[in-house]
Amino acid sequence: MSQAFRSQTAKRSWGRVVEAHHDVAKPESPTEAVAILSEVANRKMSALPIGLGRSYGDSNLNPDGALIETTRLDHYIGFDPKTGVLRAEAGVSLNDLLRVVVPHGWFLPTTPGTRYVTLGGAIANDVHGKNHHIAGSFGSHVLRFTLARTDKGVLDVDPETPGDLFAATIGGLGLTGLILDVDLQLVPIRSAFLDQHVEPLRNVDAFFEIAEARAADYEHTVAWIDCTARGDRLGQGVFTSGNWAASGGLTPHDAKSGPGLPVDAPGFALNRLTLRAFNMTYRRSQLLKPRNSRVHYAGFFHPLDAIRDWNRLYGSRGFYQYQSVIPSETAREATREMLDLIARSGQGSFLAVLKTLGDRPSPGLMSFPMRGVTLALDFANAGSKTTALLADLDAIVKTAGGRLYPAKDGRMPADIFQQGYPEWERVEALRDPALSSAFWRRVTS
Ligand SMILES: Cc1cc2nc3c(=O)[nH]c(=O)nc-3n(C[C@H](O)[C@H](O)[C@H](O)COP(=O)(O)OP(=O)(O)OC[C@H]3O[C@@H](n4cnc5c(N)ncnc54)[C@H](O)[C@@H]3O)c2cc1C
Repeated sequence: MSQAFRSQTAKRSWGRVVEAHHDVAKPESPTEAVAILSEVANRKMSALPIGLGRSYGDSNLNPDGALIETTRLDHYIGFDPKTGVLRAEAGVSLNDLLRVVVPHGWFLPTTPGTRYVTLGGAIANDVHGKNHHIAGSFGSHVLRFTLARTDKGVLDVDPETPGDLFAATIGGLGLTGLILDVDLQLVPIRSAFLDQHVEPLRNVDAFFEIAEARAADYEHTVAWIDCTARGDRLGQGVFTSGNWAASGGLTPHDAKSGPGLPVDAPGFALNRLTLRAFNMTYRRSQLLKPRNSRVHYAGFFHPLDAIRDWNRLYGSRGFYQYQSVIPSETAREATREMLDLIARSGQGSFLAVLKTLGDRPSPGLMSFPMRGVTLALDFANAGSKTTALLADLDAIVKTAGGRLYPAKDGRMPADIFQQGYPEWERVEALRDPALSSAFWRRVTS
């Protein structure tokens, strides 16, 4: 073992179902990261870049190989407060970045549901947010990046770079090289607050009507669904829309994260009873009238960040996250079928999010978002009972011509991946030969 790599017995990703041994290196500078990649090549190792580990399954794990953690590549290189173009190292987190740029009246072009994501991770999964129907995915706002590879050295890559390296890296799951730094176009904001509209959602049919109507007037839309409801109330929930407010000040979120869970919650913490109690709040919200309020971006975009390590709520066996996107043409029927199957299974998801995605194409070859409807669900890991349910959901997604999100996955079979991502072989052709992941080996085998 060299000095750069230290042996770590176990590394778990966010859902905590998959755990594996890795050798881990944590470069402090781009120069050190490049030297580590040389060592990987010389010693014929298998390695994978990793950010803050917020992918749920095995797309950021490389069992019995190495991980190169980028979180110390966290320096800002340049920021023009007139144009909103930021250049930063790829290990900068969205959490830190927002504290720097919000006071200047700039925001991320799109943000996932957590700020604890690095710029490199946001590119490698081409993340999307509540404004996908307007802004598309993260990769659409990346102007260029520096990519370090074990076989080709350090490359400056932008959309005009000959070959597919830009497109293969956006949503490329960290396989085309280690991103050292990024140029990102930010968007102007006048306030750190959003004007939010919250309304009850009667059922899944109402979702499709409301989502279409609100998308015309609101930049950000999302629905939270009660997965235990059946019959006429199948898909009932709460629909939230929001636009940036014109006033309220430019105070960024608090630097301190919320209280954490010091230990795993006992396995029974999130059982049927607690799930039912949680979903009672949805039922009560059905009685509420639509209401408007002004909320800070942290509460609007990143509500789960208020509880540090909330993933421990599911106990030591962890949980699966399952996120699909179904094309618009088949979305209504397939969404109803999936929600019905989940409600009947009694394994209702604690957190279920339903959202329409727009038609702005991503520059990425293997980007998850496409025009349609995405459903994201958590399932406490109950062993074969849970994996059997997920396999039944796979069948619905496959028949409907949809796909699953690698960032949320630790089990999708190769056939569903290859159907959903027909360009995967172009990414494979550009993969850095020394980089690999558990996910990639599984879905390309
Ligand atoms: C609470 C929560 C909410 C979420 N909400 C959303 C959402 O709304 N929308 C959405 O799209 N996603 C969402 N996600 C998923 C999350 O945004 C992605 O998994 C994201 O990629 C995680 O970034 P990370 O820095 O933790 O990367 P990791 O999970 O550590 O790695 C992710 C991928 O990036 C690669 N990678 C990391 N750094 C580099 C680098 N420097 N160079 C090359 N490759 C690199 C890794 O190899 C891996 O393939 C959510 C996750 C959580 C936990």
